[in-house]
Amino acid sequence: MPTDDRYSRQVRFAPIGAKGQERLRAATVAVVGCGALGSACAEQLARAGVGTLRLIDRDVVESSNLQRQTLYTEADAADCLPKSIAAARRIRLINIEVACEPLVCELGAANAVDLLRSASLIIDGTDNFLARHLVNEACCQLGTPWIYGACVGAYGVSAAILPGTTACLRCIQPDLPTAGDMPTCDTAGIIAPAVHLVAAWQVAEALKILVGDLDAVRRELWSCDLWHGGFQKVNLTTARDPACPACGAGATRPLLAGGDDPVVVLCGRDAVQVRRGALDLAAAARLLAGRTTLANGHFVRWVDGNLTATAFADGRVLVQGAASPVAARAFCDRWLG
Ligand SMILES: [Zn+2]
Repeated sequence: MPTDDRYSRQVRFAPIGAKGQERLRAATVAVVGCGALGSACAEQLARAGVGTLRLIDRDVVESSNLQRQTLYTEADAADCLPKSIAAARRIRLINIEVACEPLVCELGAANAVDLLRSASLIIDGTDNFLARHLVNEACCQLGTPWIYGACVGAYGVSAAILPGTTACLRCIQPDLPTAGDMPTCDTAGIIAPAVHLVAAWQVAEALKILVGDLDAVRRELWSCDLWHGGFQKVNLTTARDPACPACGAGATRPLLAGGDDPVVVLCGRDAVQVRRGALDLAAAARLLAGRTTLANGHFVRWVDGNLTATAFADGRVLVQGAASPVAARAFCDRWLG
């Protein structure tokens, strides 16, 4: 299908035009987290003709995702496909002109800057504040714009962060929330309309930045409760903190500098994540022959008693049912050496 027909309605929109469309084609957008927000944004960006989408996600598709994560199907959940792989497959069916770079991995302190380095813009599709603040620090270091987005229940919040111009996430949230302090989709639930409201805001701001219409970018953090009503805004121009550790003149970027925790308890998921060195999946599958319940080229899953472990090539092992971080680590050492 010729490009001029495919994007004709969008090109006719004066702030984009033919020149803006060409800029979209030349752009690379990294989507960090391909859950509800990430997959909704990725689909809109693919349909808009963004040339390259880097899809970064650590999880696999589950049936509980299908209520709101619109890129995925029942077959993806049945096949336990990693979200980034499933998203790339679906996007190729939607728009063959888009180059997808699916990455089955977790963005952490050690790899954040490398993962985001060549992107024109970053979409926040993460589900936790540690990951968001890592994205924030990496983007402040790289000078790359990113679009914050979050939702839980019927509530949504978003902001375009322009390093050097607007306040960054750390300016307006100097203290990171402690894990377990904030409601999550697992604890408070979520409705799909809240996802699509936030995704619409994120993609609109992304399009403005990608086509170069920076004057149109909203310099504010907005939030909304779709169920009970109410809309709030915080000015991001006046909220800049010159002493901010992420974007200030003497920024130390403490999260990037601090490295990754080798063992993390995943709240609400009855699982512990153990981070090890990169894993040869084929070798691990041979090692675990007889105990392996699934080895699909993206991960190896095995069972021992009450524990189920899923090991990814990037070195992460999710241990479900582990009584403690120490028990999870011991389990990994026992089976993977
Ligand atoms: Zn800042």
